[in-house]
Amino acid sequence: MNRIQSPVTIDKKNTAYEQQAVAGTGMEVDGGGGNDLGAQWNRVCDRLRKEIGDKAFKTWFGEVEPGELKAGKLRLYAPTRFVRDWVARHYGDRVLAYWQAVNGEVASVEVNLVPPPAPRRASDVIAIPPVPSSQSHQQAQMPRLGPAIGRGSEESFQGPEARYTFANFVVGKPNEFAYAAARNIAEQDRPLPERNPLYIFGGVGLGKTHLMHAVWHSIRERDPKQRVLYLTAEHFVNRFIQALRNKNTGAFKEMFRNVDVLMVDDVQFICGKDASQEEFFFTFNSLVEQGKQIVLSSEKPPSELQDIEERMRSRLGSGLVADIHSSTYELRLSILQTKAETARVPMPMAVLEFLAHKINTNIRELEGALHRVVAHGQLIGREITVEMAQDVLHDLLRQADRKVTVDEIQQRVAQHYNIKLAEMSSPRRARSVARPRQVAMYLAKQLTTLSLPQIGKRFGNRDHTTVMHAVRKIEELKGTDMSIAEDVELLKRQLQG
Ligand code: ADP
Ligand code: MG
Repeated sequence: MNRIQSPVTIDKKNTAYEQQAVAGTGMEVDGGGGNDLGAQWNRVCDRLRKEIGDKAFKTWFGEVEPGELKAGKLRLYAPTRFVRDWVARHYGDRVLAYWQAVNGEVASVEVNLVPPPAPRRASDVIAIPPVPSSQSHQQAQMPRLGPAIGRGSEESFQGPEARYTFANFVVGKPNEFAYAAARNIAEQDRPLPERNPLYIFGGVGLGKTHLMHAVWHSIRERDPKQRVLYLTAEHFVNRFIQALRNKNTGAFKEMFRNVDVLMVDDVQFICGKDASQEEFFFTFNSLVEQGKQIVLSSEKPPSELQDIEERMRSRLGSGLVADIHSSTYELRLSILQTKAETARVPMPMAVLEFLAHKINTNIRELEGALHRVVAHGQLIGREITVEMAQDVLHDLLRQADRKVTVDEIQQRVAQHYNIKLAEMSSPRRARSVARPRQVAMYLAKQLTTLSLPQIGKRFGNRDHTTVMHAVRKIEELKGTDMSIAEDVELLKRQLQG
């Protein structure tokens, strides 16, 4: 919970990062680049203060401290749970953007509670040891450190989320198939070849990770001897790179040797990372050959994954492919009802209906909205009404109401760089027009729901690969070129009004 949806894509950065790390050009996989975090934090704070004003700054950031930067993930420490959640939810995107502007290595920001409980090193792997009695010990070592910020690594995984069970998963039309498929896999004694791998795909925040963890819990309940390894693809990649650097791939492979079920979350992350992909393919095949079940999640169906080898694509889609569709009003409402009931918070039906109607992006945001309304009710003692919800959520609602169009983006960007609007679709490739055009394509990808080909069409009928290149280019430049980073941030803010 408490996730902030961040439109900032960090995948590309991670790709660059992988290549550099593999090539051994000095980028540290772990513990890298944290020397002048204090100075960077000061710069970020300056910008924050300017933007949100002294008072709000003091309230929320007065006691927030920078922690460490590891593998692209930057940790901040907040004094209380409330501040942590608030900062993450309301300022997460900005902190991330500003920090990226001063340090391109930062791919995501995570806000933790200070002092952190027990060991700080979080793991996003859960392995079930074959001996049931050691399980509680295993869990005790994995403290929850709070929400993470940044797309792609949105949930930094600190152990099986206790509430992500089948029982807590609300089933409706959009997710009934994925739910049934996940249950079926969890209840099976041995994998059926035609259902291996189970590949669950769907948009951000629609319940993929929830289902994965539910499978984990369910298998564990049924048979504690099963060795289930869950990890995020990001974790897989990072660990693999680390193993390459340390010339110790043996230990890495060992991790998968005695596994009965392998679960990899967000496999789209592996796309474009050739060495990791190769290793994943190898791991995958050898487990399948041994008759082990594989469960994968992804934001895209196998057919739409880009930058993966054909043999990999066909392997991914060779079992049971189940998608989670975007949510319907009915599903959102029933999720809200369930969550309010579970939390034992009396919520007027009208408020739930209002939220289900207005927050139609993803379930995570919906949960976040509910959470916020409840917190306001409890902390300030305000009666929960539709007006109150409207008030408390005005920033979210404004975003939801506001649909940015490609036309607006092109106009704004052309104006900003002082070029003719027509240059957005002209074939000219001079840097002076090509760069702004790339910025506009990037923003179109970030701020609209259009696909790459659809965006290409709007920019003088360009190919989707051109758009993809533009998106990557700008992402890369944002990390290295302050002025581009600032332009993009400014334009984004203006467009989102
Ligand atoms: P994804 O992995 O697809 O991005 P998550 O599994 O992290 O999404 O889900 C985001 C949040 O929404 C989680 O807190 C999850 O519990 C909740 N959620 C999503 N779908 C459902 C559902 N059908 N019933 C209950 N909670 C849900
Ligand atoms: Mg997920």
